[in-house]
Amino acid sequence: MLVRGLFRRCAHCGGKGAFFTGWIARQDRCKTCGFKWERNLEGFQLGAAAMNIMLTGGSLLFVMGIGVIATYPNVPTWPLIAVVCAVALIVGIGGFPTSYTVWLAVDLRMNPLTEEELADAAAHARK
Ligand SMILES: [Zn+2]
Repeated sequence: MLVRGLFRRCAHCGGKGAFFTGWIARQDRCKTCGFKWERNLEGFQLGAAAMNIMLTGGSLLFVMGIGVIATYPNVPTWPLIAVVCAVALIVGIGGFPTSYTVWLAVDLRMNPLTEEELADAAAHARK
């Protein structure tokens, strides 16, 4: 399920694009299986935001570490800061949908779908 999330797919059915209608635009159900992903909205948004922060922060540390190691001892401070800022923007925005789908996988793992949710999803699935 985590791998599905990493590729921005529905954690439940693996459907391509999951519930995204654009890069950032979302709808409330998976396009393929009809699964309603907004299960506990506030907690979910918080988890997705935390996931995004970890993803962005992690890649920042990674890029900074590589930059410092590669150029040590003459670390080009300003160019490195510029690169790190660019990475923050790219990962922060580019990783936005991924943080949702990955978090959804974590959420589904912790709280598997109930019978009612499955029935509801089936009723809304693409025929
Ligand atoms: Zn789905």
